[in-house]
Amino acid sequence: MMIQDEYIGFKIEKQKRIALIAHDTKKHALIEWVERNKDVLKGHFLSGTGTTARLIVDKVGLPVKAYNSGPLGGDQQIGARIVEGNIDFVIFFWDPLASQPHDPDVKALLRICAVYDIPLATNRATADFLLTSHFMNVDYERHVLNYNKIIHGRMKEFS
Ligand code: PGA
Repeated sequence: MMIQDEYIGFKIEKQKRIALIAHDTKKHALIEWVERNKDVLKGHFLSGTGTTARLIVDKVGLPVKAYNSGPLGGDQQIGARIVEGNIDFVIFFWDPLASQPHDPDVKALLRICAVYDIPLATNRATADFLLTSHFMNVDYERHVLNYNKIIHGRMKEFS
């Protein structure tokens, strides 16, 4: 009961809306991973940051909706789609050994995934575990903090 008040449930459908992102040093690893999991991934809706998406289309042959390249705001576009409820699953092979020109955007995307209770794999092993989860084959309810309640309380502070 309490949880219904504190959180709002959003359904991740059986057919997931998956965003794929890889930093340059991780692109080979992501393409290998997508190739290896092609049969599972073809049953879901795929999108990705510009270069990553195009590479997957070219090298693996799966359809992937391309957002802008990461350094040009692609991570932020994917974050916005998560906020709008249009992406609900993220595979993000990021490079922990290189600083990126868009480091703040990377952090923002990881944060927004936490806020919206999005399944997020940041390396190959986690991606393997996620994709073999039995939740891949069913609807799943993620829990998002009921911020309306908090806003209501904050409004009262200013009235
Ligand atoms: P890219 O962006 O797929 O366009 O290379 C990835 C990123 O750096 O976030």
